[in-house]
Amino acid sequence: MSNPFLAPSTLPYQLPPFAEITDEHYAPAIEQGMAEQLAEIQNITRRRDMPTFENTMVPLESSGQLLTRVLRVFYNKASADSSDSTNALEEELAPKLAAHEDAIKLDSALYWRIAQVHERLDELGLNPEQRYLVERHYTEMTLAGAGLDDAQKTRLSELNARLSTLTTKFEKNLLADTNELAIVIDDAAELDGLSPGEISAASQAAADRNLKGKYLITLVLPTGHPWLESLTNRAVRARVMAASRARGSRGGEHDNREVLLEIVRLRAERAELLGFDNHAAFVTADQTAKTPARVAEMLDRLAPAAARNAAAEQQKLEALAGHPIEAHDWAFYNEKVRKADYDVDTSELRPYFEAERVLQQGVFAAATKVYGITFSERTDLVGYHPEVRVFEVRNEEGTELGLYLLDLYTRDSKRGGAWMNELIGQNTLLEHPTIVTNNLNVPKPAAGEPTLLTYDEVNTFFHEFGHALHGLFAHVTYPRFTGTNVYRDFVEFPSQVNEMWMLWPEIVNDYAVHHVTGEPIPAEVLERVRAAQLWGEGFATSEYLAAALLDQAWHTLSADEAAAVTDVAAFEAAALARVGLDNPAVPTRYSSTYFAHTFSGGYDAGYYSYIWSEVLDADTVQWFEENGGLSRANGDRFRQFVLGLGGAGDPLDAYRAFRGRDAVIEPLLERRGLVA
Ligand SMILES: [Zn+2]
Repeated sequence: MSNPFLAPSTLPYQLPPFAEITDEHYAPAIEQGMAEQLAEIQNITRRRDMPTFENTMVPLESSGQLLTRVLRVFYNKASADSSDSTNALEEELAPKLAAHEDAIKLDSALYWRIAQVHERLDELGLNPEQRYLVERHYTEMTLAGAGLDDAQKTRLSELNARLSTLTTKFEKNLLADTNELAIVIDDAAELDGLSPGEISAASQAAADRNLKGKYLITLVLPTGHPWLESLTNRAVRARVMAASRARGSRGGEHDNREVLLEIVRLRAERAELLGFDNHAAFVTADQTAKTPARVAEMLDRLAPAAARNAAAEQQKLEALAGHPIEAHDWAFYNEKVRKADYDVDTSELRPYFEAERVLQQGVFAAATKVYGITFSERTDLVGYHPEVRVFEVRNEEGTELGLYLLDLYTRDSKRGGAWMNELIGQNTLLEHPTIVTNNLNVPKPAAGEPTLLTYDEVNTFFHEFGHALHGLFAHVTYPRFTGTNVYRDFVEFPSQVNEMWMLWPEIVNDYAVHHVTGEPIPAEVLERVRAAQLWGEGFATSEYLAAALLDQAWHTLSADEAAAVTDVAAFEAAALARVGLDNPAVPTRYSSTYFAHTFSGGYDAGYYSYIWSEVLDADTVQWFEENGGLSRANGDRFRQFVLGLGGAGDPLDAYRAFRGRDAVIEPLLERRGLVA
């Protein structure tokens, strides 16, 4: 029996032969792929000749083709259509793949050869993409610790292992405390304000824990619980808020305070070992931000304006409530103001958002109008699940661009959320085309019923399609730079920009048509939606910034400074007071003891990224508006300078070339209503 991963696919666009792939094929192909790549790396490091771009960088970029081929398909499957067997394999593979990556990234002989090429960068006559490739590999291996001596490497791997244990412990404590702190309600009357569906969910949650006849409010990750906006009982709201904020700091076995203090100390030590002042300096060195000072500059500029707007919103809420607003009151009165002043009920929009029309006349049509690309469904090609649709994407002049796979509906085998990934990443070195997928989690309607999307789902659709465009447009030589393989604080930028077309008049008037009457969505409804978007931005920006600032505050400590911190709550309060985000009615989106992004989720010293890329996004939207909005010329320029680059150059240099200057923060301030 042959394994379909062992050779490149012969289907159009090298589409993986899904009809032939079964779960049994993954593990052996991955094992063989790792072994092949290590052998390929050895062929590079065994050489005794002078390291050059051709004999070192090119074979490095060509290595691991089988592994890449199978892993892209496997991870797509594991997230979009998992099974017990893919779940088990994913868990089993995690440490093996981490060890495999370390073996390459910490290979001293490979590092030595790349460093030799890096040293002679100016003499080798390389083109800009080739130079950037050398720089990226050299930087990544340096940051991983490939340049350390043996004793330092030993300490580094001790630190990495201990940090991995601690971040896992943080996550487990948080999960346990989140479960334990769920609020038990005895009487349904206390849930007044919730919908019947929410009340029955609370009843079911209680029954699941053998609390028959009672109701359970389970906590969600951020400080604010979604039910706080509708629960009319103030005492219940106060209980929910108190429980949410107590997570990880109650003493006992699930307390996260000592765990996070040790994480902070060890990260600082590791940063110093690698030659940086602190962990944030280490992380941002490999982001477009480059230094914590530049992150601080942006956050410090936003914080006072956000705090000021939140205070103004608070006055309005207090006038309505007739009493001081506390943290647990905010969402409740905020929603009342939204309904009274803006009269927006987002559920009234759904009949205008029929999924197929949103796709064809909205998402696709916008891309055709802006970039000239066209879409045709390829029912002859098979996706990884019967619900997946395959579209061929062509340039305006008819040349092939790639495949776009759409997987719209939710199902038990799919994880939550929405995302884009690449099944094949374009590069000319290996002659790979592009295949991108978008996954959403839209509930499937009853048979014969149309799929009507919510406002947020339409927004998500445009957002994820922005990632897809980034993947489709990238035109690079080397696999390392394919598609969306860019810095974390840049990767959300193209997707955020694509959201602009959702409410663009020429687009929305075409797709937002009532699915029964055929009437276009009334202009005044759209106007109310647009106006309502600004309401609540003071609070939303403040709670986000507070978390981003906390993340930076912990990670700009030196190892000595970190060792001196013993009181988590006091440190947190001082950090927030310093920037004026200490309004008790506007708590941080995450407190340190339940800040999973930064202490277990891979956004350490990087939670600022969301607003960092939104600065670029708002500045870009302004550029489109200044230059006549939706036009092919504007689309071509954005594609040529920014989207088409993929990861093959410095993104901020590309942005400067596109915009004629660096991005400025004013358009974001305006968008969020933060202008004085
Ligand atoms: Zn995104």
